[in-house]
Parts: sequence; structure tokens; C-alpha cells
Amino acid sequence: MSIAERLEGVRQEIRMAAVKAGRNPDEVRLVAVSKTRPGADVIQAFRAGQTLFGENYVQEFTAKTAEVPDPVEWHFIGHLQSNKVKYIAGLVNMIHSVDRLSLAEEISRQWGRINETCNILVQVNVSGETTKSGTTSEDAINLVRAASLLPNIRVAGLMTMPPFFDDPTAARPYFAELKRLFTMIAAEEIPGVEMKELSMGMSGDFEAAIQEGATLVRIGTAIFGERG
Ligand SMILES: *Cc1c(COP(=O)(O)O)cnc(C)c1O
Repeated sequence: MSIAERLEGVRQEIRMAAVKAGRNPDEVRLVAVSKTRPGADVIQAFRAGQTLFGENYVQEFTAKTAEVPDPVEWHFIGHLQSNKVKYIAGLVNMIHSVDRLSLAEEISRQWGRINETCNILVQVNVSGETTKSGTTSEDAINLVRAASLLPNIRVAGLMTMPPFFDDPTAARPYFAELKRLFTMIAAEEIPGVEMKELSMGMSGDFEAAIQEGATLVRIGTAIFGERG
């Protein structure tokens, strides 16, 4: 199957999952995760109507932006070292993986240099697995509060990566927990914070994530095929 065909299939599944959950399908945006894929694959997906892409690795990402002439929107979704933030400043509209204040401070500093504001999501390690990045559920609100005071950042929501399960519905309680945190933080009405995005759900579990309220699903394999 071509990228265009896979993309169309994924779009249909997203719409069906949203309808099944009683949600408006337009509330769920697809982030096509193009990590390890060549720029040519991004261009193919763009020609098939996909405009939003997610990348994980700074060096790979900056090289790819040079290969892709089309007006695509990029989100950074991978673990980010503070000393590399300067290379992506102004190139991405959103960073999903902010898990510590020092990183938020550096993002604000680099976006400040170009007089722009970066949208960020706080990554929460809902499962508490030691191999995963993210704040604890308890610390998430403290990070949102502290980040909200930085001048060139806009906190827009939360992101999580649940443990991997063979059974796609097994991740659902982790998505429900992120939604609970999201609602709790939104209710605090922290000045400057507009909680609107819940980034959760990947190729294997996006239906469960949509049932629990995902607004951004990050899907790679189901669109581009297995990574080598
Ligand atoms: C790779 C990756 C994805 C996409 O995973 P697939 O299983 O290929 O859909 C989503 N989110 C993050 C943070 C990733 O690193």
C-alpha cells in the first residue's frame, strides 16, 4: 500500500473512533510521525493532504526541513536536550515533550531571541515506568504553573506515552488518567494557560486514546510502515 492509501485508512479509523466516542472528528488532529523516514515520504504524505508532522531527533529533523520545500507544520515529540533547543527554535509550532523546568526555560529563552512564542505540552509519565520521560502525575501541575510564568512559552496541554501492550485497550486507563489530570489543571484556570490539547495515542492504541479525549494522535508506523 502507498503512503497515501495508508494515510486515508488511518484518517477513516480516526473519524470512526471519534464518532463512536460521540465526539466531533474535527477535534482530533493527526500528527504524522515521520522519524527515521526520508523527506520524500513527508512530501508524499503532504501531497495526500497531510500537513502536520512529528519528529523526534534534532539533527534528523533539521536536515529534513531542508529537504521538504512544502509548507508543512512540524511538532517536536521526542526527548529534547536543552543544549539542542537552539537548533529547532522557530522551526516547530509545538513541543510535546517538555518534562522539566530547565527545558521550558531554555525553550522560552531561544524563542525569545526570535521574538516568538512556542506552544508546549507537559509530558507526564503516567505509568511511572523508569524508562520513560515525563513528570510524575503529582508534579505536572507544578511544571505547568512554573512554565506559565515564562515569557515566550504558551502551555497548551499535556502529552503521555503509556506502556506498550499487545492488547490495544490495555492502555486506556493511562489515557483516562491523563485526561483526569488535564481536567484538574484546566479547572485551576492558571493565567496564561489554555488547556486544549491532549496528545496521546499511537499506531497501536489511538482508538482508546480518542475514546478518552485525545486531540492530537501521533501516528508513524500505520502511515509510513515499520521503521527499519
Ligand atoms: C515514534 C513515536 C510515535 C509513533 O509511534 P508509532 O507506533 O510508529 O505510531 C508517537 N509518539 C512518540 C513520542 C514517538 O516517539
